[in-house]
Amino acid sequence: MRRHRNVKIVATLGPASSSSQMIRALFEAGADVFRLNMSHGSHEDHRARYEAIRAIEAETGRPIAVLADLQGPKLRVGQFAAGPHDLPEGAPFRFDLSPEPGTASRVQLPHPEIFAALVEGAELLVNDGKIRLKVVSCGPDHADCIVTVGGQISDRKGVNVPDVVLPLAALSDKDRADLEFACELGVDWLALSFVQRPEDVEEAKALARGRAAVLSKIEKPAAVRAFDEILKVSDGIMVARGDLGVELPVHSVPPIQKRLVRLCRSAAKPVIVATQMLESMIESPMPTRAEVSDVANAIYEGADAVMLSAESAAGSYPVEAVTTMDSVARSVEADPNYRSIIEASRKASLSSVPDAIVTAAREIAETTDVAAICVFTQSGQTVSLVGRERPRVPILALSPEERVLRRLCLTWGTHAVATARLSRFKEAVVNATRAARKFGFADESRKVVVMAGVPFNVAGSTNILRIAPCDERLIYASDPE
Ligand code: PGA
Ligand code: MN
Repeated sequence: MRRHRNVKIVATLGPASSSSQMIRALFEAGADVFRLNMSHGSHEDHRARYEAIRAIEAETGRPIAVLADLQGPKLRVGQFAAGPHDLPEGAPFRFDLSPEPGTASRVQLPHPEIFAALVEGAELLVNDGKIRLKVVSCGPDHADCIVTVGGQISDRKGVNVPDVVLPLAALSDKDRADLEFACELGVDWLALSFVQRPEDVEEAKALARGRAAVLSKIEKPAAVRAFDEILKVSDGIMVARGDLGVELPVHSVPPIQKRLVRLCRSAAKPVIVATQMLESMIESPMPTRAEVSDVANAIYEGADAVMLSAESAAGSYPVEAVTTMDSVARSVEADPNYRSIIEASRKASLSSVPDAIVTAAREIAETTDVAAICVFTQSGQTVSLVGRERPRVPILALSPEERVLRRLCLTWGTHAVATARLSRFKEAVVNATRAARKFGFADESRKVVVMAGVPFNVAGSTNILRIAPCDERLIYASDPE
């Protein structure tokens, strides 16, 4: 089983996508990475979804990445007694610390530090900024507000307070517990919400102890300002447009998205463009034209992955949403303009041996008719560098390290394949060409590029590049070693 596109699809799991059948259907429709959103659901819910994913992985023999998204210091209201309420403009509404279920006139906001920092006149934004309220009076345990822009409020909707600097730690107690739970479960990626400083990332990495790679969600103005330093210490990035577009004017998001995607590509670190990509598909089997253009633009920009949130977690058409992303990706990537845009935005390579060898592989793919670039990798680093080149042909990542293969499911253009631990380059060539044939990347008449480091099993040692025929008789005839 192979994908017919380079960009990856991240699908969030939730109430609409918890059964093994549904998760399997999402995988078959094109989901490469599943996101467990720690802001919703119990550990038991997440464990059940995790186990369903690993069972699909075992059945299909294809690596799948699991990303656990930590809530971070996100402010959320409590729950309501009788479902959602419409808050009309001009209505009074109170936030307080009482755990009593909410009504049409009040709800819990379980963050005493907000009440301590709030001032009269400050603005509170609820549900991705859809509802706006102004504080008319506040105390240590409540804030009385007036609705200035009305909308629907419901259980656990997010709250942003852009006017006030909130003294919040990067990881709450819940985040620490969720991080440990997710690492013990065996997730491949952790996503950190509301990162503000590189130290926030370092703190999470110290707790993860290498058990999972760490991805920073850029959704605060402070993170945009400190982006270069945050990128250096992160293994990947998510452009978290939902909260970013609430904390900053919404029109400033597209230029930030473009800049972040380019910087991540030059750093050879995967970048996900996230939130509201196919929002209308929560309720409709058809996307809007604007949504299709948005997904297409992220792919033209060179993102590694595009993401579904509520569309796959809580919507009525999760499979259709994945299928839509898959078709948009195939359409964009077949456009000759796509190649020229991707090539024009490639940064000149640096002058190390790994840079030189991946550049050579990409140039061979441009000037000859090789069918794929096959890379033996111990740590995944060389594959990330090949991905940065955005070559014209698919990348086969071959590794004995299951964890490395799973992490690479987020990397542009990469098809991860498990391989035995090898000791001779010829075995590598045979394994690579077999994988290329087995997964439909090449037939016996084609050639592939094979890259490896000799001696084997040492990270960061890629030093051989061979153009190999896929016909095994020719490999044995031409290569006595
Ligand atoms: P969230 O993050 O869905 O966890 O809020 C993504 C975003 O803010 O865009
Ligand atoms: Mn967010």
